Amino acid sequence: MIALVTGASRGIGRAICHGLADYGADIVINYRERLDLAQELVGSLQESRRQAIAIKADVSDHDQVESMVQQALDHFGHIDVLVNNAGINVRKSLLETSNEDWDTVFGVNSSGPFYCTRAVAQHMVSRGKGGRIINLSSILTRYGMVDRLAYSASKAALEGFSRCCAQELAPHNITVNVVAPGTTNTEINQEFLTPSVQKILEQRIAVGRIAEPHEIAAMVTYLASDQASYITGQIIRVDGGWSSCDPSTVQRDVK
Ligand code: NDP
Repeated sequence: MIALVTGASRGIGRAICHGLADYGADIVINYRERLDLAQELVGSLQESRRQAIAIKADVSDHDQVESMVQQALDHFGHIDVLVNNAGINVRKSLLETSNEDWDTVFGVNSSGPFYCTRAVAQHMVSRGKGGRIINLSSILTRYGMVDRLAYSASKAALEGFSRCCAQELAPHNITVNVVAPGTTNTEINQEFLTPSVQKILEQRIAVGRIAEPHEIAAMVTYLASDQASYITGQIIRVDGGWSSCDPSTVQRDVK
């Protein structure tokens, strides 16, 4: 199994690479800036006797995406699994959000998965051996929250996109699913997750703590596995019970 994981230099993407490698996959690690981290991950996967390469590409640039997919195919010959994990957050309100903020967030979170999925699906369809596409959205597509405007909207767009892709690609034995994590212990939350905010969140999460990246990666690995052959078009929340909590308990002052 060959898997291409975007935004894999750190955080959830890195954990997904480890999860898929443990399942037996060889990995294409996409990174944007952190060559050092990407190379370290290549080394660590190779120590686990998996093949891995790192390819630099900004997923919001379709030319770079086309080149990345071609490089992956030149190296491994085919791609079985695409994980659209790369994502960014700009924490601003409606009145603060500039056109540039909006375009930047949508460029990475919505257009990026579109460019990657189109390029990889074209290969999967012509190869005729099926495939798995897994997109990372967020529990914030289900809840409105202040200062999450562009992020929440871009992830909601990704969910709509994924449902349509699932319908179109099912005849080709390609499944398309979304994993929607709750708050997870990664750099994207570094500024947001002050001790007091973390305490408020933990009161609302049924299991009483935020997620670790490997707990999100476990669902991605499952969806890429043979066991998940009949699951497509689904939005699967991995949030420790957050989305099943009584909305009246939701705090509105978490910024
Ligand atoms: P991090 O900020 O820790 O990591 C993001 C990764 O995406 C980095 O590897 C980063 O690379 C890469 N990236 C960012 N922009 C681009 C780009 N234009 N092209 C290629 N790669 C890019 O985030 P997480 O690991 O926390 O998040 C992973 C995914 O999970 C995201 O889609 C996020 O929205 C989603 N998610 C995360 C949650 C959380 O609480 N952590 C909750 C819900 C969803 P670089 O190092 O070069 O910047």
